[in-house]
Amino acid sequence: MAIADGEFYPGQSGTVEVVAGQLPSGNPVQIKAHVFRAYQPGPTVLFLGGVHGDEINGVEIIRRCLRGGIFKRLETGTVIAIPLLNIYGFNNFSRDVPDGKDVNRSFPGTKSGSLASRIAHGLSHNILTHVNLAVDFHTGGRGTYNYPQIRYNAEDLRAAEAAEAFAPPLIFANKAPAKSLRRHALKILNVPVLTFEGGENLRYDAHSIDVGVSGIARLLHQQGMLTKKPPAPDRTPVRITQSTWIRASRAGLFQWTKRSGFAVRKGEAIGIISDPQVGRLDKRIYAPRDGFLIGHANAAVVSQGDALFHIGE
Ligand SMILES: [Zn+2]
Repeated sequence: MAIADGEFYPGQSGTVEVVAGQLPSGNPVQIKAHVFRAYQPGPTVLFLGGVHGDEINGVEIIRRCLRGGIFKRLETGTVIAIPLLNIYGFNNFSRDVPDGKDVNRSFPGTKSGSLASRIAHGLSHNILTHVNLAVDFHTGGRGTYNYPQIRYNAEDLRAAEAAEAFAPPLIFANKAPAKSLRRHALKILNVPVLTFEGGENLRYDAHSIDVGVSGIARLLHQQGMLTKKPPAPDRTPVRITQSTWIRASRAGLFQWTKRSGFAVRKGEAIGIISDPQVGRLDKRIYAPRDGFLIGHANAAVVSQGDALFHIGE
């Protein structure tokens, strides 16, 4: 297996750096990949963190797996682990790259495009071409908490099986956004991608990190790459097929009274918006239908129209 200027034979492991661009300081924008090959042939699985540079839980999940040595115990196949794709965003506490573009809306990317497009191209061209299955780790955006979940393309049976094997608390079959890694990988390369979501940006979430680390072990076992069976999850996943956002009907101070990870009944009070200057009465927020809270806002100050709860059915 040849990745950039690195060559990996069966039984061989190491790291390789793919140069995707340059920063104004002259430093290269590099994609650092850890490659682990077993002696026995098998699938190649990619674990990818930090496509959005401020989404730290995935970086930590892959770092822990690398540090814990699970990939060194592979019995078949290959793991490519990239803890941090978007180093610019990571250094700048930002989801995007300097031009404000989103790497996960820039696939497949081009060699001469924007920096986001070049990073996407570096990954598509050098890494994705080797891969049979990938897990792309994300979190909620600024002030938004996502309950740990796997999203996958409903029509892709391989992804459905992999999601079940990963066994997070929530499994959400939905369409991937245009020009996203998941959309591109399936459509062009026929590679199933699971999108992991857990926690919020710039913060560790212990629950999401634990779900991610144990899910990786279960997935590798399902792929026949690890023979030792990891522990089963402590509950069966809740399966979601559609979702809607509940938005703030007025601005003010927001507090949730029910958080994600719980079922809700139609008409149940789940949050409250208050006037900081005590002019108007509090406004209660009610669940518009039966469902399951898959995400919620942790922002204390909200504008009219801000997303407050993500409710799945
Ligand atoms: Zn993300």
